[in-house]
Amino acid sequence: MNRVHVIGAGLAGLSAAITASGAGRAVTVYEATGAAGGRCRSYHDPELDIRLDNGNHLLLSGNKSAFAYIDAIGARDLVTGPKKPVFPFIDLKTGREWTLRPSRGRIPWWLLYADRRVPKTTASEHLILRSIGREWDDTVVTETMRHTSLYWLLLEPLSIAALNTRPHEALACLFGAVLRETLLKGGKACLPRMAKTGLSEALVDPAIETLRKRRAEVLFNLRVTGLVIGNDRVIALETGDGQIEVDANDSVVLAVPPWIAGELLPDLTVPDAFESILNVHYKIALSPEADIEEAGFVGLVNGLAEWIFIKKDHISITVSAANKVVDRDADELAAAIWRNVVKALDLEGAEATEIPPFRVIKERRATIVANVAQEERRPSAETRLLNLALAGDWTDTGLPGTIEGAIRSGVTAAKLALNPPKVAKRRRKKKKMAADDD
Ligand SMILES: Cc1cc2nc3c(=O)[nH]c(=O)nc-3n(C[C@H](O)[C@H](O)[C@H](O)COP(=O)(O)OP(=O)(O)OC[C@H]3O[C@@H](n4cnc5c(N)ncnc54)[C@H](O)[C@@H]3O)c2cc1C
Repeated sequence: MNRVHVIGAGLAGLSAAITASGAGRAVTVYEATGAAGGRCRSYHDPELDIRLDNGNHLLLSGNKSAFAYIDAIGARDLVTGPKKPVFPFIDLKTGREWTLRPSRGRIPWWLLYADRRVPKTTASEHLILRSIGREWDDTVVTETMRHTSLYWLLLEPLSIAALNTRPHEALACLFGAVLRETLLKGGKACLPRMAKTGLSEALVDPAIETLRKRRAEVLFNLRVTGLVIGNDRVIALETGDGQIEVDANDSVVLAVPPWIAGELLPDLTVPDAFESILNVHYKIALSPEADIEEAGFVGLVNGLAEWIFIKKDHISITVSAANKVVDRDADELAAAIWRNVVKALDLEGAEATEIPPFRVIKERRATIVANVAQEERRPSAETRLLNLALAGDWTDTGLPGTIEGAIRSGVTAAKLALNPPKVAKRRRKKKKMAADDD
């Protein structure tokens, strides 16, 4: 049977493998490291003696590709979140607390209630969200509205979380794409969702299990070091252990990070600027106030810390678009972020003064920068090679670097692998692409 070779077992590669194996194809997945999940994974931290996620990952119920994947791997029960859309916030400067509670349907009735929307804003002001990023142009988030309370207390934190890029350079069209698939569809599409036990348990391990049940091969510690090209096709994969043949009717999905894709395909233009995400995990069990407990997290403004996630045996704090702080000393960051936590959660006594045992995780290339320069470097899934498709959150998905983008890219690449456009059509397209380059 024709085989689909998937290189990389992050969410994009796993999504491609699940799609291709679901269509009855033989699949082999090659993963360079000893575990799948890539930038979305869990591990046991020996010092803290607890299981940690590399970073907090939030999904929204409107992430339809992500939930189709979760259903395909039978993992619905492994994802959790509040019954209603609820987003508590705290302003660390003023001490003000508020909770956004969008109504479930498309009509935003919630905006009529001052206590369900952003403080010091009007209902009509919120309607501006509909116009953000409608045009696919180089407008950045800061240019989309006046810098009122709505901007500082909602638009800025949401866009940083969604795009992992500071709003003065983040593309409004990418933010608009996220808003239109979630918040603007109503509360039903923006129920916050998180992994119940861990990212690997919810999004990765069930995928590996499903693949194994479908008799797909998943090979770990197998780094693909080169692609052997012949007659406009990938004809073999180079690895440290020698070459793996790619048969004439086989397809290849390359689902590695952009810098690796660029090494394997030197004539491919790939994104080359990245933003960090900083996570600090503190080993402490806390019972926060009701709204935070209901959501499982709280958003912070006017502090270093941006989101606090409450877990059973620890709390996890996220700072996105963190390039400007990531080089600071880990102990210093943990102390500064703890001061924000103490203030936000009103901790007192020893809980406030003693920093609990912590782990700082700096993901330096968490996502590509969501700016115009990088957007122009994102390639489509289809390549010049007849049997090679690209996947990854950095490909041209129309979304920022997110789980939803990664999973959607995997489906797109798998579909190309299953139904490669006719050779003649691809050759014509390739000729045209070459002419455009000249
Ligand atoms: C700290 C952090 C927080 C985040 N928070 C969120 C969030 O809240 N919501 C959200 O939607 N997204 C979030 N993201 C983004 C999300 O994690 C990514 O978009 C997604 O995981 C990317 O998946 P991917 O498969 O495209 O890439 P990767 O996860 O990078 O997968 C690539 C895989 O390829 C493997 N590989 C590399 N080279 C080779 C080779 N030569 N041969 C074989 N295998 C190879 C790698 O080991 C890896 O497993 C976050 C990311 C980080 C880092």
